[in-house]
Amino acid sequence: SSDEEDGEEYLFKIVIIGDSAVGKSNLLSRYARNEFNMHSKATIGVEFQTQSMEIDGKEVKAQIWDTAGQERFRAVTSAYYRGAVGALIVYDISRRTTFDSVVRWLDELKTHCDTTAAWMLVGNKCDLDNIRSVSVEEGKSLAEAEGLFFMETSALDSINVKTAFEMVIREIYNNVS
Ligand code: GDP
Ligand code: MG
Repeated sequence: SSDEEDGEEYLFKIVIIGDSAVGKSNLLSRYARNEFNMHSKATIGVEFQTQSMEIDGKEVKAQIWDTAGQERFRAVTSAYYRGAVGALIVYDISRRTTFDSVVRWLDELKTHCDTTAAWMLVGNKCDLDNIRSVSVEEGKSLAEAEGLFFMETSALDSINVKTAFEMVIREIYNNVS
């Protein structure tokens, strides 16, 4: 292809972090395979999935990493973060404690990653609006204060999932190109 002739290759590592059961694995499976699993087990998890998109006529690949449930033991290793140029920090809009944990996940990101990376705060399970415990405004203002993109998503109903990943990928591309 012309990309190969140009010697141009874009491969970005993106990590998904956040408390257990916020929907990280389902966000990835929805984005990469258009699949959702109501009974997904924390232990089932692939290391990463590679997904491509086209930007400026170029193929841009994102290698998106999912924890295999290590977050339950607060044992996400530095290898997980190594080389990541993008991150989705996910909470569950129906569980307040997962939003309270965001600052801790952000601290971990800041410890392990370059702060010029593209980070997005993601309030997942927006389909559960009737039992919401974190308002959209709270999510937005935390994101603003921390300089993060923000989006509410639903892996179940396929709301904003593709948009969220592609916004992060686009931002990384803009930063390097
Ligand atoms: P992880 O531990 O963060 O990887 O979370 P999972 O992807 O394994 O999801 C945990 C649970 O939440 C599972 O029962 C999923 O079916 C459910 N879940 C994930 N995303 C959504 C969503 O957008 N809406 C709803 N209602 N449930 C979801
Ligand atoms: Mg998982």
